[in-house]
Amino acid sequence: MAAFGTVFMPKMALTTFDDEGWTTPEQVSAEQINLHPGAHVLHYASSCFEGLKAFRHKDGSVNIFRMEANIARLIQSGRLLSLPEISPELLEEMIIGIVAHYADEVPEPPGSMYIRPTHIGTEPAIGKAASPSSTSMLYILLSPVGDYFSGGAKPLRLLLEEEGSRCAAHMGMVKSGGNYASALQPIMQARKEVNADQVLFCPGGDVQETGAANFLLIDGNEIITKALDTSFLHGITRDSLLTLARDMGMTVSERELSVEELLERAAKPGTEAALSGTAAVLTPVGTLIHNGKDYHVGSGAQGPTTDKLRRALNAVQWGEATDNHGWLTKV
Ligand code: PMP
Repeated sequence: MAAFGTVFMPKMALTTFDDEGWTTPEQVSAEQINLHPGAHVLHYASSCFEGLKAFRHKDGSVNIFRMEANIARLIQSGRLLSLPEISPELLEEMIIGIVAHYADEVPEPPGSMYIRPTHIGTEPAIGKAASPSSTSMLYILLSPVGDYFSGGAKPLRLLLEEEGSRCAAHMGMVKSGGNYASALQPIMQARKEVNADQVLFCPGGDVQETGAANFLLIDGNEIITKALDTSFLHGITRDSLLTLARDMGMTVSERELSVEELLERAAKPGTEAALSGTAAVLTPVGTLIHNGKDYHVGSGAQGPTTDKLRRALNAVQWGEATDNHGWLTKV
C-alpha cells in the first residue's frame, strides 16, 4: 500500500476568486495548477486546508464524515488568514460533486477516500507582505487511503517539548501550511535525538497537541484534554470522540493539563493516552519522553478504552452504528 496521501484521483474540483467573485466550480486535472512564481501563497504562506474522509457502507452508499464541521473550520481558517470569503454552500457543492464523481473508487472499510480542500492566495504581488492576496484558488483533491492500523497500531513515543511551540500562539486554531513548516525542526530533532515518533508540544508546561493530532489522556472513566483556545487545532475527531465518550457515560474534562500532572497520572497502572485526528483516528501513546527519561503511560501498551473509543468512532463512520449526531452526509 502506498504511503498515506501519495495517490491522487486524476481530477479535482476547482474554483478561483477575483474581483468578479468565485467562478463556477469545474472538475479539472489534478496533475498541476497554473501559479505565478510571485503568487502570494508562495511568499507569505496565505494557505489553509482541510482533511476529511468519505466512507463506503455495506449498502454500497458513500458517506462523508463531519463535512459541515470541516467546512466551518476551513471558512474560519480563511478568515483568520484574510483570504477571500467562500460560502459553505459552494464548498459543499464542490466536495459532494468530486466525491460523487469518484464514488466507485472509495475504498471499503477500513480504507476510505481522504478529501483535501485547499485554499491559496494567488495574486502575483510580492509587495504585499503586509496585505492580503486579492485573488485566490480553491481546489479539492481526493486521495484513496488504506488502513493505518493494519497489523495493529504500535503505541507511539512522544517527546514532551516545553521550550518550543508548534506555531504562533494565536494561530494554532488555523489549519495553515505555515504552522506545519514551523513545527518541522523540533519534530526532526526529536526523531533523531530520542527516537521519538512525534513531539507533544507543551509550551510553558501546558500540554497542547502534536504536529498533526490532538492529545487525550484517559484515566479510568475520565478523559482529560486541553480546553479549546486559539493556540491549537480544534480537531473534529477530538470533538467526535469526546461526544461518543460522553454518550458512553464517561467524564470529559476539557481543561489545562500540566506536564507534571500528565507524568503523575501516566505512572498509574491503567492510564492510557492517545492521539486523535482524521488520519490517526485514535492512535495509542505508549511512552512519554521528558528530560532524557522514558515514562510509560500505564502499561505502555494499547489500552482497552482507546480501543473501545476507536471502534465506536469507526462504527459510526462505517455505517455499523446509528449516526445519532447526524455526522454523515450521503453522497
Ligand atoms: N492538530 C493538528 C495540528 C492537525 O493537523 C490535526 C489534523 N487535522 C489535528 C489536530 C486533528 O484534527 P482532526 O481531528 O480535525 O483531523
